[in-house]
Amino acid sequence: MWTSISRRILPALLASAAAGAAAQPNVISKDAAPNAASAPNAVERAVVRAVDAHNAEHLALLERVVNVNSGTQNVAGVRRVGDLFREQLDALGFRTRWVDGAAFHRAGHLVAEHPGPGPKLLLIGHLDTVFEPESPFQKFERLDDSTARGPGIIDMKGGDVIIVAALRALKDAGALDKMNVVVVMHGDEEDAGAPLDLARKTLTDAAQGAAAAIGFEDGPGDPHVAVISRRGAGGWTLTVTGVPAHSSQIFRPEVGAGAVYETARILTGFYDRLSKEPYLTFNPGVALGGTRVTVDSTGTEGSAAGKSNVVAEHMTVTGDLRTLSPEQLTRAKTAMTEIVRQHLPRTDATITFDDGYPPMAPTDGNRRLLALYDQASRDLGFWPVTPVDPSRAGAADVSFVARLVPMAIDGVGLSGHDDHTARETADLRMLPVQTKRAAVLLYRLSQRAGAERSASR
Ligand SMILES: [Zn+2]
Repeated sequence: MWTSISRRILPALLASAAAGAAAQPNVISKDAAPNAASAPNAVERAVVRAVDAHNAEHLALLERVVNVNSGTQNVAGVRRVGDLFREQLDALGFRTRWVDGAAFHRAGHLVAEHPGPGPKLLLIGHLDTVFEPESPFQKFERLDDSTARGPGIIDMKGGDVIIVAALRALKDAGALDKMNVVVVMHGDEEDAGAPLDLARKTLTDAAQGAAAAIGFEDGPGDPHVAVISRRGAGGWTLTVTGVPAHSSQIFRPEVGAGAVYETARILTGFYDRLSKEPYLTFNPGVALGGTRVTVDSTGTEGSAAGKSNVVAEHMTVTGDLRTLSPEQLTRAKTAMTEIVRQHLPRTDATITFDDGYPPMAPTDGNRRLLALYDQASRDLGFWPVTPVDPSRAGAADVSFVARLVPMAIDGVGLSGHDDHTARETADLRMLPVQTKRAAVLLYRLSQRAGAERSASR
């Protein structure tokens, strides 16, 4: 999911793509690409031809899967979409299985494996959408020659179709036979099951020994960029107590400061110490204080009762915590815990953390993988691809494996705009473009000896 979209830039990009090689030098010189583009080899040219030959079929597949509701809670719908992709992957010779999600209260996951002698490549998709059956937004709708609207069309059924289409092109070109590919399509990306480690075990298991992980989430509406880093998203709960007493006695040694002042001290401490750190954010979302406080199990609702002439006995705050790297997460938690421990007179406070989605740090390995994708894009006559600002990328499943593999990127799925809204729209002209770039990247990765396995990160 994406927090902002650069829609203005897209028409210009597509215009230069449509104009072909003639427009390309302008694009390249503007971005000062590291290596000059070189011509695709015979296999890569065959891959490109195969993508074009099957494009109409893949557009039809996209329409079919978008028309099946697969809101995360619609278990039957998620499984149906999983079956449709499973058929496609079976036909390409993959060994497919459905991992039942009952243990984590979701539909489950599709896993497809194609063992081969090449380095293991992990491709990540998801089958669910944020649009449940009761949403009014249910169907694929062609808007004009180049765009279509539909629930999950870019987030991320379009990316799933690109996975299938790229693998089909590699098969047609005779390259898939020697490749070692694992595809995992989650049934619960938009609302992950619990316990989270169990809901993500299939993916983390699949990442074992992988040379690269590639997420096919939609990019931020801009095919000039891909993701090498995503901030993690976790939560925290602060629980504070004070000594209840008549308010006229507050600040006396035996009464102290009360729970509300202690909470204010802690939150101000967080702000003063941590709010300037790049890419680190923490937002207290709900705060309840008084004589009596109740908070529901989700931490999003509750009640508080008290009087202005009574020193507050209780206060609870729930918030989020977003970080760019595991190291930053550890530093932030340590600093917050130290601040909580100090205490105003006669108060007590504890903080607990829920790690949620881990951060995907911008490693050298991720940069190398993006450089390969960028090279593939330029070699095919498309534009350069640079890293997107991680503050524009929300949490996603690739983050769970980023620490387990030497190289990972995300955001190479179908471009469009307004995901998670009833205006979710795909740029259908990008389907063959994104498919070609992905297929050539996968082919080139498959040609590399396992060098990246031991490369330093
Ligand atoms: Zn998504």
